[in-house]
Amino acid sequence: MDKILGFFKHQDQKPEDHHAYIKDHVFKINETNDNKEKLKTLKKIRRYLELFKDEWTTPKPVKKRMRIKLPSKTKIEYPTDEAEIQRIIKEAYEDGNTIVRVIGSGHSVPEAIIDVSGISGKTKIRFLCLEKYHGVEIDHKNHTAIVKAGTHLNRDPKDKNSTVQNSFNYIIDQAGYALPDLGGVAHQTVGGFISTGSAGGSLIHNVHDSIIKIRIIDGKGIIHDLSIDDADNSKFLAAGVSLGLLGIITKITFKLMKNYYITGNEIIASVTPLSNDFKVGCPIDLLGDGDKEQNIPSIYEFFTNSKEYDADYARIFWWPQDGVNRLTIWRAKPIPAPSNDEKPLSINSYNEFPVIAGSEIPAQLIASLVMIALNLLSSENKFYKKIAAYLINLFVPIGIQEFQDKWYNGLPMDDKVSDTAFPATFSELLFPIAKTSEIVHALNNLYKTGGEKVIGNFATEIYTTKKSHFWLSQSYNTDSIRFDIQYFQKNPIGTSRKFFQQYWDAFYPYNFRCHWGKHIPEGYGKRVRSLYEKYDDWMKVREEMDPKQIFVIAYWRKHLDIKPLSDVL
Ligand SMILES: Cc1cc2nc3c(=O)[nH]c(=O)nc-3n(C[C@H](O)[C@H](O)[C@H](O)COP(=O)(O)OP(=O)(O)OC[C@H]3O[C@@H](n4cnc5c(N)ncnc54)[C@H](O)[C@@H]3O)c2cc1C
Repeated sequence: MDKILGFFKHQDQKPEDHHAYIKDHVFKINETNDNKEKLKTLKKIRRYLELFKDEWTTPKPVKKRMRIKLPSKTKIEYPTDEAEIQRIIKEAYEDGNTIVRVIGSGHSVPEAIIDVSGISGKTKIRFLCLEKYHGVEIDHKNHTAIVKAGTHLNRDPKDKNSTVQNSFNYIIDQAGYALPDLGGVAHQTVGGFISTGSAGGSLIHNVHDSIIKIRIIDGKGIIHDLSIDDADNSKFLAAGVSLGLLGIITKITFKLMKNYYITGNEIIASVTPLSNDFKVGCPIDLLGDGDKEQNIPSIYEFFTNSKEYDADYARIFWWPQDGVNRLTIWRAKPIPAPSNDEKPLSINSYNEFPVIAGSEIPAQLIASLVMIALNLLSSENKFYKKIAAYLINLFVPIGIQEFQDKWYNGLPMDDKVSDTAFPATFSELLFPIAKTSEIVHALNNLYKTGGEKVIGNFATEIYTTKKSHFWLSQSYNTDSIRFDIQYFQKNPIGTSRKFFQQYWDAFYPYNFRCHWGKHIPEGYGKRVRSLYEKYDDWMKVREEMDPKQIFVIAYWRKHLDIKPLSDVL
């Protein structure tokens, strides 16, 4: 028993709750004379221990974290300073037959990080992980911070070098600062997050606006200090979203804002009828123009006039399954943080899953089992379908949850969702915000005609992003509406790409841009030039900064239509 309790001394997740869980179960064992019951309870404890051990105490080594196999002779290198990164790139450049790739926290589809297909046995791979290259320097006079690219935004539970105390958001918050927005998860490294054009759900705030300098080592080993204020800032605008194809970003300078809290709520309601009372109906008109009498906005109005609805930050999950058809509407607005001599604001954290024994993980595991059971949806049997709808409704119950938190804990509302207990993969399609209504109708039509095969057992996330000046950002020059198609990775039936293909086909005529870190359809490379006004300019900078193509892998050659070196020369 002492051994078990001792285990929890090393946890940073409310140890008293873990103790209580174990104690309760140990008492249960003592109380019963039934050996079968004893064994059952013991197994429960063991599973519980294994879960937390796996999740919170044993960060995974990079090779395990990635879902791709590196060639056995490829060693992962962990540079601790910039000179080491520069040396590796210079060696690769001089060698002329070496590929250099870098991993952040490995949240993107694996091939976006390293794709070994097409790399011959004679070509060397230098694979860098920046988890030992982290740190933040704050300039209080100018309200800026220089952050090393391997620094995580929030703590990454999978990286043993990552702690709350060395995470970027925590450090700047302690100094009284903040970023304007964050994604739904904040385990990522700063370098990886910006390299894929990742962003939070807001048309008012975008973290891209606060990036003022980028330090990057190009494919010849030359260090560039790029600034938005450069007379010719084309390299800066090209490097902001560059997928490790222009060089390795070592440092990013952010203009900081005063720190803040967010306050908001999450409402789960039926899509119809319309009502401001979530128990009766929906406070957003998903498919119509809104209801003026009840002051209910259309979805377009909700996102574009977000301040009116206390929704500076917002996201919607649409659960379209038969017998469900509900929206989960998460919205929040910023409120100023009190100064040091004022009383701190109360914290009421958002929980996506019910908290059991101090953690959301057990509920996520149960939800994960339910998702597997939800493959019943694909059955023709009406009774099974009813069970499936019942199960979803159980996990997406009509109701409201109020929350208030510090910006960096509140904005990443999915940060506590474990990708071990509840693994999901995504394809995210972006459209100009003006097309919101058209795309929602097209999606509704797809659900109606495609049935369960298209709908699946998950929700589609609908959110926005403010336009970005970075040339390859998926919201370049365009305020955008985003449809994040989600696939539960433990589904026993089907594959993620087959599932996404249905959406890629249906939305093909609408010229969507794809999130670079998520699944991208075959053939995207043929359209990419017409989708990005600055594609040719970006490619010109790429060729100049990586003349020997040491950063190019088959995945990006295909999706960005990067010509072979022989065609360029
Ligand atoms: C559960 C989950 C939730 C997510 N939520 C959101 C969201 O709300 N909004 C959103 O926009 N996206 C979201 N994403 C996508 C995620 O933000 C991106 O995949 C992001 O790139 C991950 O950062 P990372 O540190 O893991 O980078 P990685 O995935 O490791 O790398 C991404 C790319 O950047 C390159 N790279 C990494 N570091 C550097 C560097 N220092 N210099 C040059 N290139 C570099 C890599 O080579 C690779 O091409 C989510 C993903 C998951 C799995």
